Amino acid sequence: MIDDTDKKHLIRCIELAQEALDNGDEPFGSMLVAKDGRVLFEDRNRVSNGDQTRHPEFAIAKWAAQNVPEAERKDAVVYTSGEHCPMCAAAHAWVGLGRIVYAASTAQFTSWRAELGAQPGRVRPLTIQEVIENTVVDGPVEEFAERIKALHVARYRMANVQQ
Ligand SMILES: [Zn+2]
Repeated sequence: MIDDTDKKHLIRCIELAQEALDNGDEPFGSMLVAKDGRVLFEDRNRVSNGDQTRHPEFAIAKWAAQNVPEAERKDAVVYTSGEHCPMCAAAHAWVGLGRIVYAASTAQFTSWRAELGAQPGRVRPLTIQEVIENTVVDGPVEEFAERIKALHVARYRMANVQQ
């Protein structure tokens, strides 16, 4: 159910994730696309300023609440390089956005982190469907896994050099 248009948007999300990494943030990128295919908003992770809630999917939910009429939100699609965390999944549902397409899953991140020897975080690694209901969710897209994993391995190595 992932078509070429979906993949094109996911590739842009991965570019945004790379931009985040290059700026010292965690490598995640996301975008909001209207029913007619217009890109409404895009953002990337911005946690390096010390606010750990600066996830792009959370920024999208807040942007949509301010800028997209409520009736149009259910037809807007969120594309993201990594599956929503519970905070972002809840925000997505609270503001009434539609389908979610992600490139890499939380389960993949969890296994990659374990391979690197990283400690699990305090937020449980739930799937989107464990957090919200009545939402079409597509992902992961296996062909992007290696590229995304490489971003996260690079991030992990950078973070550990800094400590
Ligand atoms: Zn999040």
